[in-house]
Amino acid sequence: DDRIARIASAIRVIPDFPKPGIMFQDITTLLLDPKAFKDTIDLFVERYKGKDISVVAGIEARGFIFGPPIALAIGAKFVPMRKPKKLPGRDLLHQSFALWEVISEEYSLEYGTDKMEMHVGAVQAGERALIIDDLIATGGTLCAAIRLLERVGVHVVECACVIELADLKWRNSRVIIFIYLGNKIL
Ligand code: 5GP
Repeated sequence: DDRIARIASAIRVIPDFPKPGIMFQDITTLLLDPKAFKDTIDLFVERYKGKDISVVAGIEARGFIFGPPIALAIGAKFVPMRKPKKLPGRDLLHQSFALWEVISEEYSLEYGTDKMEMHVGAVQAGERALIIDDLIATGGTLCAAIRLLERVGVHVVECACVIELADLKWRNSRVIIFIYLGNKIL
């Protein structure tokens, strides 16, 4: 698929960002290229349309860029998976406000831990979800998103990212990847 090569060349690599030693994969240049951006969305939509997916869960922040156009195109709702304390809620006493109840999962970073949160009432047990982020490195972020959705009985059909950093531990995790820069489908 020659779209993959176009997508790959629209992503730039920034050395030593945000810290020395890190080669940052920058998708902002992909967003500046409407054809490559559309090709990216189309590839996901072609894979997931007609698969009975009712939830696209996007991971803050770059999953918020790729997730919504995919959700609209496949007729699913978009559910943000956010950094701590961004989602309004925690009113556990009033069932009528169940949408605003928030659950969280902790996950490991290179140094330390972080948390991800989701509105419980945004999804229902038995729904089928796709999780979207821009990039997978260790897979820790996507695994936290899987745990959040599974805690409330949602079936995670797949996780999909635009970029995979090679040689990392996610191969042992439960993450399934669709596209990455080398056009590998697992
Ligand atoms: P993981 O949890 O798989 O180790 O890390 C993935 C998360 O880190 C994703 O949410 C991703 O956005 C972010 N991330 C780590 N390195 C990069 C990078 O080089 N470029 C971009 N765009 N995101 C990165």
